[in-house]
This record gives sequence, structure tokens and C-alpha cells, in this order.
Amino acid sequence: MTTLHTLGFPRIGARRELKQAQEAYWAGTLQRSELEHVGRELRARHWAAQAEAGISLLPVGDFAWYDQMLEWNCLLGAVPPRFGQDAGEPVDLDTLFRMARGRAPSGTPAAACEMTKWFDTNYHYIVPELHPSQTYRIARDSLFEQVAEAQAQGHQAKPVIPGPLSWLWLGKGDAYTSAGDSAKLDLLERLVPVYREVLARLADQGVEWVQIDEPILVLDLPDAWQRALLRVYDQLTAGPVKLLLATYFGGLNDNLFTALALPVAGLHLDLVRAPEQLAAVLPRLGDKKILSAGVINGRNIWRTDLDKALALIEPARAQLGERLWLAPSCSLLHVPVDLAHEQKLDAELKGWLSFARQKLDELALLAQALDAPAEAAEALAGQRAAIAARATSPRIHNPAVQAYMAVLDGVSRDRQSPFETRISAQQQALKLPAFPTTTIGSFPQTREIRALRRDLKKGALSEADYDAAIRREIEQCIRYQEEIGIDVLVHGEAERNDMVEYFGELLEGFAFTQNGWVQSYGSRCVKPPVIFGDVSRPQPMTVAWSAYAQSLTDKPVKGMLTGPVTILQWSFVRDDQPRQKTCEQLALALRQEVLDLEDAGIRVIQIDEPALREGLPLRRADWPAYLGWAVDCFRLSTGAVRDDTQTHTHMCYAEFNDIIESIAAMDADVITIETSRSNMELLKAFEDFHYPNDIGPGVYDIHSPNVPEVDWIVGLMQKAAANLPAERLWVNPDCGLKTRGWEETRSALENMVQAARRLRDAG
Ligand code: GLN
Ligand code: ZN
Repeated sequence: MTTLHTLGFPRIGARRELKQAQEAYWAGTLQRSELEHVGRELRARHWAAQAEAGISLLPVGDFAWYDQMLEWNCLLGAVPPRFGQDAGEPVDLDTLFRMARGRAPSGTPAAACEMTKWFDTNYHYIVPELHPSQTYRIARDSLFEQVAEAQAQGHQAKPVIPGPLSWLWLGKGDAYTSAGDSAKLDLLERLVPVYREVLARLADQGVEWVQIDEPILVLDLPDAWQRALLRVYDQLTAGPVKLLLATYFGGLNDNLFTALALPVAGLHLDLVRAPEQLAAVLPRLGDKKILSAGVINGRNIWRTDLDKALALIEPARAQLGERLWLAPSCSLLHVPVDLAHEQKLDAELKGWLSFARQKLDELALLAQALDAPAEAAEALAGQRAAIAARATSPRIHNPAVQAYMAVLDGVSRDRQSPFETRISAQQQALKLPAFPTTTIGSFPQTREIRALRRDLKKGALSEADYDAAIRREIEQCIRYQEEIGIDVLVHGEAERNDMVEYFGELLEGFAFTQNGWVQSYGSRCVKPPVIFGDVSRPQPMTVAWSAYAQSLTDKPVKGMLTGPVTILQWSFVRDDQPRQKTCEQLALALRQEVLDLEDAGIRVIQIDEPALREGLPLRRADWPAYLGWAVDCFRLSTGAVRDDTQTHTHMCYAEFNDIIESIAAMDADVITIETSRSNMELLKAFEDFHYPNDIGPGVYDIHSPNVPEVDWIVGLMQKAAANLPAERLWVNPDCGLKTRGWEETRSALENMVQAARRLRDAG
């Protein structure tokens, strides 16, 4: 019998029960005991679903109140001093929540821990805060309690824990300069004994296998870290539990020999992202180790081509027999819970999809195909038919798009003239003052605006009434900006639910789920659109709103679009063609929209690319290829406009250093970026590079309700002007204002305009 396991199951619940319970608890409307009850129920349900599907080793520790890394930070007692944790006391739930969010029903508020993206996913983890004198101890018992809980329900528990090297790599601290700073390795001396203690306690509980996650093994690792892995795992494997070393999100590549040399009892490989590594591992695995083959995609929602998966693993089966285990490629955290809750997707499309619950069945079928091929034949044939139906469906192939794609090489991505020529044409057309002011696009999404959309969906509001109401919002937004004296106006994005969903709903080739929620961080979940086929734009998407806004004023109003890379990055993307191709199709659709905006008299057009940086591959060697096509797609969407049409782009908080050359290659006339929280530190990349085009460093943090003072904004801009030419600078907030209230928005923008006036007077 083939052993099946999962690296983790989504914890939020098919109806986001965890989110609701947590938020109610934070708001004080749910008791602690009720919250804990919801957690227990979800765990029991998820274990039962997995056991029923035939998974024999069940993950424990994949459940987390906010984030699995945060749980581990707490278990290790790595609680920053500002949370007032008593060194001898267990870390309680409210301390965990205070670390995540700054506040909890009990305990003194303190600055929350930093949160950042988990590898190349859209999940965010709470960053461990490291300090050279930090000590560790087992400070939270929930993992052990959950092991007992699973065992009491008759399951074989396989605890899932972050490995010490990955934990350190992902941590930050003032004493450390980078993820790979080897000074962090000094902490191992105190960390490893606690890991050993954890493993010993789990062994006492009767645990046989522990999954220890070292996803950093798919990154470029310095030698010191490779050596540390060897040293540490020698110490961790001395006890009675067996360790399954889990790697995912990529291939081991140059870390292969390190991974194979570790004295662990089993190794998990991501064979979806990196199937080729199997051939390299098999001859070197030895005659004792278990190999866990991650063959079902934990990062996407398509049904698996099981024939292909079988062909891949059959040589492994022949060599290893029952030493071959099967699993999803990574934790199923990154996919929605259950397709059965989708009532509105049509049957054809539904037949192509597989969510976490369905992936368990695929895994079981794969095992059956190995163990009892005759019995699996019928189900395999069904799966084969579904895969074939998708491949040949006319719904995914659009001849008009294909025809356009065929001549893509001949389409120019370049603007007509270089920046210097363009900017003077634009200055003549737009007549903007020095230090022009603008905003990033959205204005507060009030409860009233959201109610309009809800009523339209319910049918309680007619299309015409909705339209009229949005127009009123736009008019108010334009009047307000005129009144306070902003130079380049926006229409306010009142008609948009979300910057990707809005476009997806208007493009062909996209589908939307009802319950396809995926955890983004804490209680926040996102419902990514599904790009299933060729993307095209049946009709203009934003022109009517933008043209209406422009008709209200003589000042320029920015057309506002979401860029191709960002739409791609925040969707589930078809897997039957390279991502680059899908991105190009998006870019072509946006290119048409840009030209239509220009035809409609829109003189400034912004294409947001906040996700450009986060799309970077995990390995540096793969960066140039990605950046090449990502930049190309942006240029494809913007390149066709006249010299005197001004293009803008926007990016949120990011390390710009690594990609500054690519940002410059995008050749947007103006870029607005998030810089205020870093006190303009992030601008340094642009300064050092002598970034040639216009730039608007954000002057106030839209994530906070605090209103920036005029002096403070002037100070930030002077700092920017010290290292960049003043005539290239714009004054704008860090990002869109949709999450803010009107009151603080008004004060902040008025101060911003005042600051710009003062800068002009001073110059
Ligand atoms: N134009 C968008 C807005 O203003 C940009 C949001 C973003 O960068 N995340 O809301
Ligand atoms: Zn932003």
C-alpha cells in the first residue's frame, strides 16, 4: 500500500469559519472558549476529510490561529520584549494575537511584528524577530495538545514544524543585514537543543514521523548555510522520531547533495515545480530513505494529468516500492478548500478544477493506480477524459487572440520618442506646475459605495441607477480634488470592487468562484480569479467612467488600469501554456484599452504594477527571463500612445534595488512608489541608479489613519530633492486611499497640496 500524506491542509474552513471566529473574538463578541471550539471543530473536520480520502499520515501543526510561523515563534518563546512576556510563563493566545496585530482582547497593545510574503506565494507570514542574545524554550503547548487531539480521534499524527535553518533565514533583526547573514547561525547553538526537546516530547507522545520543513533548500544558499544544515541535522536525527525533510516551491539544484547527505529518514520533493530533480535524486537516495513525491499541484487549481504523474513516478515506484510516498507538492494552504461549494461555475469548467478536498482524491487515485491498477482503470479513464476535454475545449482557444499572438514579435513596444522629447511634449500639453500633485487612484470606498454594488448584484438596484450613483461619486471626487487644488486628478475607482477582479470580470477567459477563498494573512482571505482560456477584451472596460470624469474638468484626469503582471500574479493562471503567454494576452487587451482611453481624450494613463517585484522567481538565475517578459508586457500595454500622452505606473512597498534596471526599462513617464514608511530610504535605489524619468515618492502612509503634517511632507520631499532633480519629482500619497475614511483623507490631501505649494514657493 502506498503511503499518502499531505504537507498541510487549508485551515480557514470552506466557509471561512476561522476568519469569522477570529474577528468576532478580536471584537469581543466571541468568548475564548468558543473560539477554541471553532478551532477544534475545523481541525477535526479537516483530519476526517483527509483520513476518509485515504491519507494515512495526517498533518498536525498546519492549523494556526494567525500564521504557522507565528505559532512556531511562540512555541520557541521568541517573543519580542515589547510584548511583556514573562520568561517563565507560557505564551498565551492573546500574546500571539498581539504579536500579529498589535492588540488583543487582553494585554497591553504594542507594535505588531512585521509580516512579509511567504516565498513566491501570496500568503504572508509573521517574521520571527531575531536577536543575538535571544534564548529559546518550549513556551507554548498547542502543538503537543493538537497531536494528542488527532491521536484521540484515531489518526496517525505527523507533526509539521519549520526547520531551524528556514526559521532563521526567514527571521529578521537589527543585528542582521540579510536573510542569509551567517551571523544568524550563531543562534543555532541555543535553538537546536529546544528542537531536540520538541522532538523528544513528540516521541513520548508516540509520534513516529515528524515533517520538518526546510523550503530554503530550493533557494540559492551560501556555503555557510549548507554546512550548518549538515551539522544541525546530525544533532536532530539522534532521537527516536523519524524526520521527513520537506522541500517545496522549487528544485534542490545545487543544494541536492546537501539535502541527500542529511541523515533524515525521508525527503519530500516538489515534483510539480521541478519534476526533473527526481532523476537526479533516485540513484543517490540510498537503500533506506523514504522518498515523498509531491506530484499534485498545491499552488494551482487544475485537475491533475494523472497519466503524466504516473509516468513520472513509475521509475521511482519500481526502484523504491513502498519507500515511495505520495503527496501534494506543498501545503494545500495555497488553494481553496472544496469545489463542492461552487454552485455557479458551469459543469464544464468545474470538471477542469480541483481544490484541496479534490486533490486528496486525486492522490488516492494515483496510489490506487500503483497498488491496484485494474481497480483504478475506470476512474483514471474518467480523469483522462476530463483532461482531454479541457485541452480541446473551444472555450480556451480564441482564434482572434491567437492571430494577434502570432504577429506579436512585429508589434513595437517602444514609445515614439525618448523620454526627454516626450516629457516636453507632455509639459506643453498638460501645463503642470513644479512638484505636481496627484493621488494613486482610489478614494475612500465608503459603506454606501459597497452597498450600491451589493444591491446591483442582488437585483435591488437597476444598472441605470447604479450607473447614476457611481457618476455622482465620480463627480464629488472630481469637485473635491479641484477644490483643494490637486493637479492631476483621478476618478476615484468607486466602480471597482477590487483592482484585479474588476478587470477579470470584463475580460474573456476569466472565471470567478463563489467560495474559492485562500488565506492571505491572518483572517484576511482572497478569492483569486481563474484565468482558464485565451484572454481578450470584448469591449472597453474603463473608458466610459474616465471620459465622464474628464468631461467634468479642465484639469487632466488619469485613466486607471491594473497592469498585466499584477493581474497575472493575483490570479490562478492556466497551466497549459507558459505564464509569459498569458501575460502577453493580458498586455494586448490592456494595450487596446490604453488606446481607447487616449482616443477618448484621456491625456494621462496609469497602469499599476504593484505585483511586479513579488513575481520574481526564487532563484536568481531565473530572474532575467522573468523580468524580461514582465517588462516587455508592461511596454506592450503602454508603448503605443502618442508622445504627449503621459504614462504612469505605481508600485507599492518593495525592495527596489534588485529590479531598478527593469523599472527603468518599463519607461513609464512617471512612477509613483511607496516610500514614506521607510523615510525615503527606498528612494535610494532610484537615486543611485540616476533614474531618468519622473518619480513620485509617496509622502504619506495610507496604511495608517494618521494625518501627515505639512512640515513633515516638505521635509520628505526636500530629502528626495537633495538627490534627485527637483523638476522630476511629483507629490503623492504612498498608495490608493480606498481603505481610508474621508475625514483623514481630506486633511492629509490638503496638507499634501499645501506642502507642494510651499516647495514651489521655495524653489
Ligand atoms: N490604483 C490602485 C488604488 O489606488 C492601486 C492600488 C495598489 O497599488 N495596490 O487603489
Ligand atoms: Zn500601492
